[in-house]
Amino acid sequence: MTNVTFEGSDGATWAPAPDFLDSLRSQLRGTLCYPGEPGYEQARTIWNAMIDKRPAAVIRAAGTADVMRAVNVAREHQLLLSIRGGGHNIAGNAVCDGGLMLDLTPMKSVRIDPSSRTARVEPGVTLAEFDKEAQAFGLATPLGINSTTGVAGLTLGGGFGWVSRKFGLTVDNLISADVVLAKGALVHASPKENEDLFWAIRGGGGNFGVVTSFEYRLHPVGPEVLAGLIVHPFSNARQLLQGYRRVVMSAPDDLSCWVVMRKAPPLPFLPNEIHGKEVLVLAMCYVGDPEKGQRAIAPLRALGQPIADVVGPTPFVGWQQAFDPLLTPGQRNYWKSHDFIELGDAAIDLMIEYVGRLPSPACEVFVGHLGGAVNRVPATATAYPHRDVNFVMNVHTRWGDASQDQACTGWAREFFDRMAPHATGGVYVNFMPEDEAQRVRQGAYGANYERLSMLKAKYDPGNLFRQNQNIPPAR
Ligand SMILES: Cc1cc2nc3c(=O)[nH]c(=O)nc-3n(C[C@H](O)[C@H](O)[C@H](O)COP(=O)(O)OP(=O)(O)OC[C@H]3O[C@@H](n4cnc5c(N)ncnc54)[C@H](O)[C@@H]3O)c2cc1C
Repeated sequence: MTNVTFEGSDGATWAPAPDFLDSLRSQLRGTLCYPGEPGYEQARTIWNAMIDKRPAAVIRAAGTADVMRAVNVAREHQLLLSIRGGGHNIAGNAVCDGGLMLDLTPMKSVRIDPSSRTARVEPGVTLAEFDKEAQAFGLATPLGINSTTGVAGLTLGGGFGWVSRKFGLTVDNLISADVVLAKGALVHASPKENEDLFWAIRGGGGNFGVVTSFEYRLHPVGPEVLAGLIVHPFSNARQLLQGYRRVVMSAPDDLSCWVVMRKAPPLPFLPNEIHGKEVLVLAMCYVGDPEKGQRAIAPLRALGQPIADVVGPTPFVGWQQAFDPLLTPGQRNYWKSHDFIELGDAAIDLMIEYVGRLPSPACEVFVGHLGGAVNRVPATATAYPHRDVNFVMNVHTRWGDASQDQACTGWAREFFDRMAPHATGGVYVNFMPEDEAQRVRQGAYGANYERLSMLKAKYDPGNLFRQNQNIPPAR
């Protein structure tokens, strides 16, 4: 006999009768598991080891019917409900304490249609899994730079990576989605059906329902691209960042170049004496004709005197996984992020100051390169509003031992605060940690917030989907 007690957000508890749980279990195609049972620890363990939450029960969904059952149980019994796709979100909202966790990771189907260049993808799929299927046909859609990330959460927040300047955000390539609403009904969202819902899920996160299938547009990419790293000593960072900003502001859409500033990991192509020293890395990918690519990256190659240049033809699938070894799950992580239209000298000086005192060897500062096709979409065309942003800085604080929590989060917060006057005030919702609820309205959504909160009132008036960067329903 199983004894399970759910905790409601209002302090109430609910201990369902054992036959209720047995009946629920028998209705599922997937599994229902409790603390101590197989699958429970696996489901609740997510990428960010700072998050250690314990749901009362987990439904590991095998399909849409399981999702509908989970949503109905959570709504009818007023349970806190959390949704897990790939489990990578820094805020850790995939898991909840005392509630019902809906784990979508078993939903792994990817179906590529090479003739229409489209893909149907279930919400437990990772970026690597999607890429591997699509690249078998020389196709891809824009995804992020860490291949173990979930397609679902990435898409619902916006999604950008190495080919976004050419093909737009992930949401710009979303054709349609199947969504289980708070009332338990399955609907289709597309430009022709439930178009307001389709607008909201393209950036509005998990606020509007549980997506059980994503349909994407694909583009010819690779299978080889011109990509790799140019590694510089950090002592020359000011001139390099000034040169970088000049070159990339006129770069073709085929080229993306991100900056990574960190202590050098022991990569085989770096001399031993550089390991553990601060470096500035230009990480780049050119997705078009390789000869044109060599010409496009030449001005980046001409900057400074690098320690190593390992840019060359490389399989796209491999490049999509290039940063995985530095971003493995199980470490403690805390992020702070700012958007920029321009990287001014004052912002550059602050980056240099704070990279000069990184609180742990695994911390890094990323500057993601946007613009191009992403910025040719009007700011109100999708819920994701930041269509004038050219650079996204992610202060990626990462360490292993809880005794370093204060030093690491303190460094990130101070850096973030000092950088604020030089940034737009906007933030990519998928880079927000759990303590930034105050940034959701203005920072994450700005002018799109009001419409989002009206649609929240239409599609989820009881705020069942609140374990997220929450948009409360308009009253
Ligand atoms: C190392 C690393 C690198 C990253 N790099 C990039 C990058 O290059 N580009 C980029 O755009 N982002 C990047 N991200 C951010 C990433 O997009 C977000 O963390 C995203 O939320 C991860 O999705 P997930 O499914 O893995 O996460 P989860 O934690 O499983 O989900 C995040 C939230 O999304 C919602 N959700 C998930 N699945 C569903 C669903 N099917 N239906 C409804 N709601 C759902 C839930 O509210 C959940 O709390 C990176 C993250 C990490 C950790």
